Amino acid sequence: MAKILDGEALAEELRKGLRESVKNLADVGARPGLATVHMGDDPAAESYIKMKQRDCEELGINGTHVDIDSNAPAEELYDVLAELNEDPDIHGILVQDDVPEHIDWLEAVSHIDPLKDVDGLHPNNVGRLVAGNSRFVPCTPLGIQKLLTEENIEIESADVVIVNRSMIVGKPLSNLLIQKTDGGNATVTLCHSRTRNLAEKTRQADILVVAVDNPEFIDGSMVSEGTTVVDVGIGRIDADNEKGYELVGDVDFESVEPKADYIAPVPGGVGPLTRVILHNNTIKAAKLQEGIDFETE
Ligand code: NAP
Repeated sequence: MAKILDGEALAEELRKGLRESVKNLADVGARPGLATVHMGDDPAAESYIKMKQRDCEELGINGTHVDIDSNAPAEELYDVLAELNEDPDIHGILVQDDVPEHIDWLEAVSHIDPLKDVDGLHPNNVGRLVAGNSRFVPCTPLGIQKLLTEENIEIESADVVIVNRSMIVGKPLSNLLIQKTDGGNATVTLCHSRTRNLAEKTRQADILVVAVDNPEFIDGSMVSEGTTVVDVGIGRIDADNEKGYELVGDVDFESVEPKADYIAPVPGGVGPLTRVILHNNTIKAAKLQEGIDFETE
């Protein structure tokens, strides 16, 4: 039976440290501020934003939210970002990735001051991560790394197979895990929809990270005995419960779990860490901008 990588428990542990950091900042008269910006209509994105804002309240972070009409021109979004860049009470800015077709999300993100880019997606921060001199590491990859290192899962020299090449998961995660640092030194294979013989590659993995956005895409036949499996996918299926849906991952838990040594499930694995890292990055941003020098992740 695989050991479950419990993201909820680790996130709660990390939140304790964040509350302490917010308190330390308050002692020197500073309060971290996070602005979320949303220009789309997806109810799932709206609920993610609500959760992020609720976390802000609970952690003592000054949370602000800006909604922009999804028919507005890109310039309106850029103007909002320019204002937030200048706002001394805002240290971190996040543009939710649910944007209408006429908006290039990464182009929009490049309008954020790199010192406030707590999602780590501004070209400046992407470049720093690649160069091994990171400032803000994208939240989901850093959360995955923490989930692995917390459990003392050997990353050094491991064969890591990532099925995803997006800017928020696969590319930053591969850059993070190949760095010559603790929690790095892995050999990474990045797979995507054009990868030939995918199952051959996933079976080679010591650590398999999956984010294809296709419920239960990876089954037991694609995983070798003793693998660490990290399910990142978040799908929704209709369910007869209060919410009317259930979250499902990209890994078929039933057939994969008996073969894996460790498994980060959906829900309860990577998801809770993504949010906590966002707030960690916001606190780090506040320290950077306020010139406060004490321990940060
Ligand atoms: P995305 O940009 O659509 O990326 C999906 C990736 O899967 C792409 O690289 C795609 O390849 C690859 N893929 C799709 N079908 C495939 C196939 N048949 N074989 C191999 N590769 C295939 O999505 P994303 O934004 O990265 O998110 C992916 C999933 O992770 C979503 O379910 C999302 O909700 C979830 N997610 C969760 C968290 C969290 O905190 N837990 C954070 C971020 C994302 P191509 O590049 O060739 O198209």
